[in-house]
Amino acid sequence: MRTIGLIGGMSWESTAHYYRVINGETARIRGGLHSAPLIMHSVDFAPIAELQRTGQWDAAGAELTTIARRLQDAGAQVLGLATNTMHIVADQITAAIDIPFIHIADPTSDALLADGFRNVGLLGTNFTMEKSFYRDRLAASGLQSIIPEVDRTNLHGIIFEELCRGIIRDESRRTYITAIERLAQRGAEAVILGCTEITMLIDDSVSPLPVYDTTDLHAKALVKAALA
Ligand code: GLU
Repeated sequence: MRTIGLIGGMSWESTAHYYRVINGETARIRGGLHSAPLIMHSVDFAPIAELQRTGQWDAAGAELTTIARRLQDAGAQVLGLATNTMHIVADQITAAIDIPFIHIADPTSDALLADGFRNVGLLGTNFTMEKSFYRDRLAASGLQSIIPEVDRTNLHGIIFEELCRGIIRDESRRTYITAIERLAQRGAEAVILGCTEITMLIDDSVSPLPVYDTTDLHAKALVKAALA
Protein backbone atom coordinates (compact mmCIF):
# COMPACT_ATOMS: atom_id res chain seq x y z
CA MET A 1 0.00 0.00 0.00
CA ARG A 2 1.32 3.44 -0.90
CA THR A 3 1.63 6.18 1.68
CA ILE A 4 -1.23 8.67 1.87
CA GLY A 5 -0.47 12.35 2.45
CA LEU A 6 -3.29 14.31 4.06
CA ILE A 7 -3.56 18.06 4.54
CA GLY A 8 -5.92 18.37 7.48
CA GLY A 9 -7.06 20.66 10.24
CA MET A 10 -9.80 22.44 8.26
CA SER A 11 -11.29 21.76 10.64
CA TRP A 12 -9.63 19.22 12.93
CA GLU A 13 -13.12 17.97 13.85
CA SER A 14 -13.60 16.60 10.34
CA THR A 15 -9.97 15.52 9.95
CA ALA A 16 -10.57 13.20 12.92
CA HIS A 17 -13.31 11.54 10.81
CA TYR A 18 -10.85 11.16 7.92
CA TYR A 19 -8.33 9.45 10.19
CA ARG A 20 -10.94 6.99 11.40
CA VAL A 21 -12.38 6.22 7.94
CA ILE A 22 -8.96 5.89 6.24
CA ASN A 23 -7.77 3.40 8.81
CA GLY A 24 -11.11 1.59 9.14
CA GLU A 25 -11.36 1.16 5.36
CA THR A 26 -7.76 -0.07 5.15
CA ALA A 27 -8.41 -2.63 7.91
CA ARG A 28 -11.66 -3.70 6.24
CA ILE A 29 -9.95 -4.32 2.90
CA ARG A 30 -6.60 -5.68 4.08
CA GLY A 31 -7.71 -7.40 7.29
CA GLY A 32 -5.80 -8.27 10.41
CA LEU A 33 -3.80 -5.49 12.00
CA HIS A 34 -3.41 -3.53 8.80
CA SER A 35 -3.80 0.24 9.03
CA ALA A 36 -2.97 3.01 6.61
CA PRO A 37 0.54 4.37 6.05
CA LEU A 38 -0.33 8.05 6.42
CA ILE A 39 1.53 11.33 6.79
CA MET A 40 -0.68 14.18 7.92
CA HIS A 41 0.00 17.87 8.13
CA SER A 42 -2.73 19.43 10.25
CA VAL A 43 -2.81 23.22 9.98
CA ASP A 44 -3.88 25.87 12.43
CA PHE A 45 -7.29 26.66 10.90
CA ALA A 46 -7.70 30.18 12.32
CA PRO A 47 -5.31 31.97 9.91
CA ILE A 48 -6.59 29.93 6.95
CA ALA A 49 -10.21 30.78 7.82
CA GLU A 50 -9.22 34.45 8.01
CA LEU A 51 -7.66 34.27 4.52
CA GLN A 52 -10.93 32.68 3.30
CA ARG A 53 -13.03 35.36 4.96
CA THR A 54 -10.97 38.16 3.40
CA GLY A 55 -10.80 36.50 -0.02
CA GLN A 56 -7.03 35.99 -0.01
CA TRP A 57 -7.21 32.70 -1.90
CA ASP A 58 -3.78 32.97 -3.52
CA ALA A 59 -2.12 33.34 -0.13
CA ALA A 60 -4.07 30.40 1.27
CA GLY A 61 -3.19 28.40 -1.85
CA ALA A 62 0.50 29.21 -1.47
CA GLU A 63 0.43 27.99 2.12
CA LEU A 64 -1.28 24.72 1.21
CA THR A 65 1.00 24.21 -1.80
CA THR A 66 4.08 24.46 0.44
CA ILE A 67 2.55 21.85 2.73
CA ALA A 68 1.70 19.58 -0.22
CA ARG A 69 5.31 19.69 -1.40
CA ARG A 70 6.56 18.92 2.09
CA LEU A 71 4.29 15.89 2.30
CA GLN A 72 5.57 14.69 -1.07
CA ASP A 73 9.17 15.18 0.05
CA ALA A 74 8.40 13.28 3.25
CA GLY A 75 7.30 10.25 1.22
CA ALA A 76 3.58 10.70 0.55
CA GLN A 77 2.59 8.93 -2.69
CA VAL A 78 -1.02 10.08 -3.01
CA LEU A 79 -2.38 13.33 -1.64
CA GLY A 80 -5.71 14.46 -0.20
CA LEU A 81 -6.88 17.87 0.98
CA ALA A 82 -9.41 17.32 3.77
CA THR A 83 -11.82 20.18 3.02
CA ASN A 84 -14.17 20.94 0.16
CA THR A 85 -13.74 24.71 0.33
CA MET A 86 -9.99 24.76 -0.12
CA HIS A 87 -10.31 22.76 -3.34
CA ILE A 88 -10.74 26.24 -4.76
CA VAL A 89 -6.91 26.16 -4.94
CA ALA A 90 -6.68 22.54 -6.15
CA ASP A 91 -5.12 23.56 -9.48
CA GLN A 92 -2.42 25.57 -7.69
CA ILE A 93 -1.55 22.52 -5.57
CA THR A 94 -1.58 19.94 -8.36
CA ALA A 95 0.67 22.14 -10.52
CA ALA A 96 3.33 22.00 -7.80
CA ILE A 97 3.44 18.25 -7.07
CA ASP A 98 4.16 15.05 -8.97
CA ILE A 99 2.06 12.62 -6.93
CA PRO A 100 -1.66 11.96 -7.67
CA PHE A 101 -4.07 14.40 -6.03
CA ILE A 102 -7.49 12.93 -5.24
CA HIS A 103 -10.03 15.73 -5.76
CA ILE A 104 -12.86 15.50 -3.22
CA ALA A 105 -15.58 16.16 -5.82
CA ASP A 106 -14.56 13.20 -8.00
CA PRO A 107 -15.41 10.22 -5.77
CA THR A 108 -18.56 12.15 -4.83
CA SER A 109 -19.78 12.53 -8.40
CA ASP A 110 -18.71 8.95 -9.20
CA ALA A 111 -20.92 7.64 -6.37
CA LEU A 112 -23.92 9.77 -7.37
CA LEU A 113 -23.67 8.85 -11.05
CA ALA A 114 -23.26 5.15 -10.19
CA ASP A 115 -26.51 5.37 -8.22
CA GLY A 116 -28.27 6.95 -11.21
CA PHE A 117 -28.59 10.53 -9.94
CA ARG A 118 -28.18 13.50 -12.28
CA ASN A 119 -29.74 16.39 -10.32
CA VAL A 120 -28.36 16.99 -6.88
CA GLY A 121 -28.51 19.53 -4.09
CA LEU A 122 -25.23 20.93 -2.80
CA LEU A 123 -24.72 22.05 0.80
CA GLY A 124 -21.47 23.51 2.06
CA THR A 125 -19.81 26.78 2.95
CA ASN A 126 -20.91 29.86 1.02
CA PHE A 127 -17.61 29.58 -0.88
CA THR A 128 -18.39 26.05 -2.05
CA MET A 129 -22.05 26.79 -2.82
CA GLU A 130 -21.62 30.18 -4.50
CA LYS A 131 -18.27 30.11 -6.30
CA SER A 132 -18.03 28.13 -9.51
CA PHE A 133 -15.05 25.84 -8.77
CA TYR A 134 -17.08 23.03 -7.20
CA ARG A 135 -20.27 23.10 -9.23
CA ASP A 136 -18.27 23.33 -12.47
CA ARG A 137 -16.37 20.20 -11.50
CA LEU A 138 -19.66 18.39 -10.82
CA ALA A 139 -21.11 19.64 -14.12
CA ALA A 140 -18.04 18.42 -16.03
CA SER A 141 -18.76 14.94 -14.71
CA GLY A 142 -22.43 15.14 -15.75
CA LEU A 143 -24.12 16.28 -12.53
CA GLN A 144 -26.43 19.27 -12.36
CA SER A 145 -26.38 20.88 -8.92
CA ILE A 146 -28.64 23.33 -7.16
CA ILE A 147 -27.91 25.25 -3.97
CA PRO A 148 -30.32 26.66 -1.36
CA GLU A 149 -32.10 29.87 -2.43
CA VAL A 150 -32.52 31.08 1.14
CA ASP A 151 -30.70 30.77 4.45
CA ARG A 152 -27.23 30.19 2.95
CA THR A 153 -25.57 32.54 5.43
CA ASN A 154 -27.11 30.63 8.30
CA LEU A 155 -25.99 27.27 6.87
CA HIS A 156 -22.47 28.69 6.43
CA GLY A 157 -22.47 30.13 9.95
CA ILE A 158 -23.44 26.80 11.51
CA ILE A 159 -20.32 25.26 9.94
CA PHE A 160 -17.87 27.84 11.29
CA GLU A 161 -19.55 28.79 14.57
CA GLU A 162 -20.65 25.31 15.62
CA LEU A 163 -19.46 22.24 13.69
CA CYS A 164 -15.80 23.30 13.33
CA ARG A 165 -15.86 23.83 17.11
CA GLY A 166 -17.47 20.46 17.85
CA ILE A 167 -20.86 21.98 18.77
CA ILE A 168 -23.87 19.89 17.67
CA ARG A 169 -27.33 21.49 18.09
CA ASP A 170 -30.72 19.99 17.24
CA GLU A 171 -31.93 23.37 16.04
CA SER A 172 -29.07 23.50 13.51
CA ARG A 173 -29.89 19.97 12.40
CA ARG A 174 -33.46 21.11 11.74
CA THR A 175 -32.14 24.07 9.73
CA TYR A 176 -30.21 21.68 7.51
CA ILE A 177 -33.15 19.29 7.17
CA THR A 178 -35.39 22.19 6.10
CA ALA A 179 -32.79 23.23 3.51
CA ILE A 180 -32.73 19.65 2.14
CA GLU A 181 -36.56 19.57 2.01
CA ARG A 182 -36.52 22.78 -0.07
CA LEU A 183 -33.87 21.34 -2.41
CA ALA A 184 -36.09 18.27 -2.87
CA GLN A 185 -39.08 20.50 -3.74
CA ARG A 186 -36.93 22.14 -6.44
CA GLY A 187 -36.02 18.80 -8.04
CA ALA A 188 -32.91 17.58 -6.23
CA GLU A 189 -32.82 13.78 -6.15
CA ALA A 190 -30.01 13.49 -3.62
CA VAL A 191 -27.86 15.87 -1.60
CA ILE A 192 -24.10 16.33 -1.38
CA LEU A 193 -22.79 17.08 2.10
CA GLY A 194 -20.21 19.32 0.45
CA CYS A 195 -18.50 20.35 3.63
CA THR A 196 -16.53 17.85 5.63
CA GLU A 197 -18.24 18.74 8.92
CA ILE A 198 -21.90 18.37 7.88
CA THR A 199 -21.70 14.63 8.50
CA MET A 200 -21.59 15.51 12.22
CA LEU A 201 -25.17 16.79 11.87
CA ILE A 202 -26.85 14.97 8.99
CA ASP A 203 -26.98 11.39 7.81
CA ASP A 204 -29.42 9.20 5.90
CA SER A 205 -31.46 8.51 9.04
CA VAL A 206 -32.59 12.15 9.31
CA SER A 207 -32.32 13.43 5.73
CA PRO A 208 -35.38 13.63 3.44
CA LEU A 209 -33.03 12.92 0.48
CA PRO A 210 -30.23 10.33 0.14
CA VAL A 211 -27.01 11.95 1.39
CA TYR A 212 -23.54 11.70 -0.16
CA ASP A 213 -20.98 12.47 2.51
CA THR A 214 -17.82 13.94 0.99
CA THR A 215 -15.72 13.10 4.07
CA ASP A 216 -16.49 9.39 3.87
CA LEU A 217 -16.29 9.18 0.08
CA HIS A 218 -13.02 11.13 -0.11
CA ALA A 219 -11.33 9.18 2.69
CA LYS A 220 -12.28 5.87 1.04
CA ALA A 221 -11.08 7.14 -2.36
CA LEU A 222 -7.69 7.94 -0.82
CA VAL A 223 -7.42 4.38 0.43
CA LYS A 224 -8.44 3.02 -2.96
CA ALA A 225 -5.81 5.17 -4.69
CA ALA A 226 -3.15 4.08 -2.22
CA LEU A 227 -3.98 0.42 -2.88
CA ALA A 228 -4.14 0.76 -6.69
N1 GLU B 1 -14.40 21.65 6.15
C1 GLU B 1 -15.21 22.54 5.42
C2 GLU B 1 -15.31 22.17 3.96
O1 GLU B 1 -15.29 21.01 3.66
C3 GLU B 1 -15.15 23.98 5.75
C4 GLU B 1 -13.88 24.49 6.36
C5 GLU B 1 -13.12 25.27 5.34
O2 GLU B 1 -13.60 26.35 4.99
O3 GLU B 1 -12.08 24.79 4.86
O4 GLU B 1 -15.49 23.01 3.12
